[in-house]
Amino acid sequence: MAIIQVLDHATIDKIAAGEVVERPASIAKELVENAIDAGAKAITVEIKEGGISFLRVTDNGGGIPKDQVEIAFLRHATSKIRQESDLDFIETLGFRGEALASIAAVSMVEMVTKVADDLTGTRYVIEGGVPAEKEEIGAPEGTTIIVRNVFYNVPARKKFLKKPMTEGAYISDMMEHMAMSHAEISFRFIVNNQVKFSTPGNGNLKEVIYRIYGKEFSDNMKDIRFSVPSLGMDVTGYIGTPGLNRSNRNHQLFYINQRFIRSNLFSKALEEGYRNYMMQHRFPVCVLHIFFTPGQVDVNVHPTKMEVRISNGEAVYSAFAAQSAGCLSEREMIPKVILTEE
Ligand code: ADP
Ligand code: MG
Repeated sequence: MAIIQVLDHATIDKIAAGEVVERPASIAKELVENAIDAGAKAITVEIKEGGISFLRVTDNGGGIPKDQVEIAFLRHATSKIRQESDLDFIETLGFRGEALASIAAVSMVEMVTKVADDLTGTRYVIEGGVPAEKEEIGAPEGTTIIVRNVFYNVPARKKFLKKPMTEGAYISDMMEHMAMSHAEISFRFIVNNQVKFSTPGNGNLKEVIYRIYGKEFSDNMKDIRFSVPSLGMDVTGYIGTPGLNRSNRNHQLFYINQRFIRSNLFSKALEEGYRNYMMQHRFPVCVLHIFFTPGQVDVNVHPTKMEVRISNGEAVYSAFAAQSAGCLSEREMIPKVILTEE
């Protein structure tokens, strides 16, 4: 008979890492989320070779105290929740305590971090889940993480990575989504030593949209704002004029409590609002921030999938459809047809 055994930690970590780390973009996303959760006001992401050989995230957030750096890399180690009941009131992007452990399990990681109260920082190196170096080092306040050689120890996974161009494009999309999720944070994205975009971090979402999608796009975005107190829902952001449509839904950006999500519910509701203004197979664009009071949405669905569960789905749908239609019917949205005399 086959013997049943509990797997060793290294194996468990590698298996579990597969859930969180699918590609360099998932690593970048987790690290940027950590930087946001750490209260950073400026975040720089730099990649080479699509993030496969080199990915660096620098933030000026709170940093990690010396004696906790190693703990941060343990699975299920988090500073963000303490107990089960906290799951209903998550206000941070992370809470599972899995990202650093997973990333370190499948790559070579170097972290330099310093908290405000300390004079010096810590440099910590962990490769394939195995701690390699730890030393005191001079450093600015905040955290820098360098991830090298993603999946170097998981050849089966590495084989499925796409070309650096494509992996880089995934990171680029993620960075754009992140920048628009937090207009109050200054983001900078560097690809092969070239700055792709940077945002001012002054809280002006329209300006972020302009920096990322350009003038024509941002000029055709109209602000929308409404609340539905009975649903505990507040919405603010921008929707495109009907002329600014797309052949797919890639430019329909929804954020719930500043977390980027994909949602059929919101997409369909938005499109319902545009029904009278748009041709078939064309899709409206939007950058919408939806704020729910705690308890109305469940973000604890899947570690990486950008799905959420929303209570009162139907009421949310109707409110969205009605409000976007209402916003569009305001005069200036619809190009006027001027009839000239013959
Ligand atoms: P989670 O984000 O779910 O808590 P992670 O594995 O991503 O789990 O991170 C573990 C812990 O390490 C975090 O809870 C946080 O305390 C700390 N940490 C990670 N990244 C940073 C960072 N950039 N700045 C400050 N602390 C961080
Ligand atoms: Mg995290």
